[in-house]
Parts: sequence; C-alpha cells; structure tokens
Amino acid sequence: KPTIFSGVQPSGIPTIGNYIGAMKGFVDLQDDYETTYCIVNQHAITVYQDPKTLSQTTRLLAALYIAMGLDPQKSTIFIQSDVPAHAQAAWIVLCQTGVGELERMTQYKDKAQKQEVVSAGLLAYPALMVADIILYDAQYIPVGEDQKQHLELTRNFVDRFNNRYGNGKDLLVKPEPMIPKSGGRILSLQDPTSKMSKSDANTKAFISMLDEPKTIIKKIKSAVTDSVGEVNYDKENQPAISNLLDIYSALSNRSIDDLVNEYHSLGYGKFKSDVADQVVATFEPIQQKYHQLVNSQELTDILVEGAKTANETATRTLSRMEKAIGLTYKP
Ligand code: ATP
Ligand code: MG
Repeated sequence: KPTIFSGVQPSGIPTIGNYIGAMKGFVDLQDDYETTYCIVNQHAITVYQDPKTLSQTTRLLAALYIAMGLDPQKSTIFIQSDVPAHAQAAWIVLCQTGVGELERMTQYKDKAQKQEVVSAGLLAYPALMVADIILYDAQYIPVGEDQKQHLELTRNFVDRFNNRYGNGKDLLVKPEPMIPKSGGRILSLQDPTSKMSKSDANTKAFISMLDEPKTIIKKIKSAVTDSVGEVNYDKENQPAISNLLDIYSALSNRSIDDLVNEYHSLGYGKFKSDVADQVVATFEPIQQKYHQLVNSQELTDILVEGAKTANETATRTLSRMEKAIGLTYKP
C-alpha cells in the first residue's frame, strides 16, 4: 500500500478549516493507504504555549482524530514527542538546510511578525516537518494549501540528501502533497484575505470543531460578507461568500454549482442559516464521540500503542540516515 503521513498541531482546538483542508481526508485514506497520523506537539512549541493547556489540547486532538473516524486498527496514531527520532532527524535536516531557505518560508514570515521574540524553533519548523515526513517513507501528504511551500522544501531536501549520500540509490522517499480541489484554504470569517487559523486571537474568525451549536450559528451570522447581495462563487470579488460556499460544499458533499443554483437569489440571511445548520449537523455526532473518549483509558492505550509502532519505523529510517552521513563508528 502507498504510504501517507500527516499531522496537526495542538496549538488550539482544530477549526473547520483544519477539518475540511486536511483532517476529513485522513479518514477517507485509511482503507487504501498505509496511514500514519501524528499530533505534532513539538511543532506547537515553536510559539509559546501554556503548559497545562498544551497537554490538554494534545489529548483533545487525539480524541478528535478518533471521534471523526480514524480507526487505530487501520491507522497509526501517536504523539510526536513520544518518538525521539523526529527531533534527532530534524537536527540532521537542519544541518543540511540553508538559513536563507528557511527565511523564505511565508508561514515563518507571517508568524514571526506576530511574535515579540522570534524563537529559533519557529525558523527551524520546516526542518522538523521534513523529519516527520521522511521518517515514515511517506509518499503522499494530505495537507491544506498553506503547507505546499513546506512540502516543496521537503522535496528539495530529499533530492539533496539522496544525491549527496545515496551512491545512486534513493535513501529517502520523495513525498507529494495531497491538497483537496476545493476547501484547501478556508478563510477567516472576519477577514477573507487571510486563512482561518486555530491560533487566531480573534475567536470570531474561526469555528472550532468543538464549538457549541449556538456559537456556530452566531459566528456564521456575524461573518463578514459583501454588498453584492447575490450568492456567487467568485473568489476575487466575493471571497467571503465563496468561502461559505466552500465550507457548505465540503461538509454536505453537494457541488458548488448546485449550491449557487439554489441560493443565488435567496439572500445572505437564508444562505448563512443553512450553512450554519450544515456545520452543526456535521460536528454534533463527532462531538458526542469526542466527549466519550477524551478522558478514557482507551485513548491513552491507543496513543501508547501508536507510539510503539511509530518508534519502530522511525528508528529504522533514522539509523539509515545516520549510517549514510557517517554518524557511526562501529566497523
Ligand atoms: P496554527 O495557526 O497554530 O498554525 P492552523 O490552523 O494553521 O494552526 P495547523 O496545525 O498548522 O493548523 O495545520 C493542520 C492542517 O490543517 C495542515 O494540513 C494545514 O495545511 C491545514 N489547514 C490549516 N489551516 C487551514 C485552512 N484555513 N484551510 C484549509 N486547511 C488548513
Ligand atoms: Mg498552521
């Protein structure tokens, strides 16, 4: 089976953007691929996280993975800091990556701007992501559009490493991004020029997967729109309405055309209220399962088991890398 790897940061409660852009796809891939899904808590600490909140959110995210349909019998589910090979491989990646290459990353530039003090970890972030991916020989990486540039960096790294150390063989697998055709970039509900992010300081800008129905309805009602007054899919001139169409379409499995036909002249009020109903309908059953799982021993057991499996694969790849670059001494 072809291999899949992806992860989400416990930097907040995942949003419907995370779900539509990446997490929903995780579930669909389980049957036909060898899937490994991580909760990347070491990525989260590239900016300050309150310790107690971080550990709670880590567990929360794991529970959501399973509540939305990941099956530990089919997928390896684990916490990044349980597998030391990630940080070890990231160091090797860092030593073969130019500072300039990292400084060019738009996520770095965006996030650095918002920090009073920029950590070296924030700059190094993509190297850890390269490590995550290569350790599992991952061929396909289901992610949102914003991760495309980091995937390109990963592909360049793999070429460089294989050329330098492979002696004509491919030591590492070159991954490809898997980005959904629509919904790969869900926008902020308050500012349709920026993407929806779970770490946004303005909580009205995103809907989290655990928001209560009345909060969801309120947030969609107060989402910014435009003065056109007709529902069209026009990302340039009506980005906010197009964003709501992307959300509605992804969660209902109805085509954008179909939705535009129905709502074109019904007014924004009716349109928004039906989008809100759809969001509530999608996440209510997930939330129910989430609450059953989050404090269970079963969840801990799944993560311990997942770490065991992940450690085996990751350690094997790390050894291969160390041997190739001469981090060995035994004859
Ligand atoms: P943060 O603000 O802390 O970076 P985030 O919302 O960007 O949080 P990540 O954990 O960085 O979430 O990303 C998890 C996955 O969700 C990635 O595959 C990313 O590409 C995807 N993703 C993030 N935001 C969006 C979005 N607005 N639309 C679609 N996919 C998204
Ligand atoms: Mg992000």
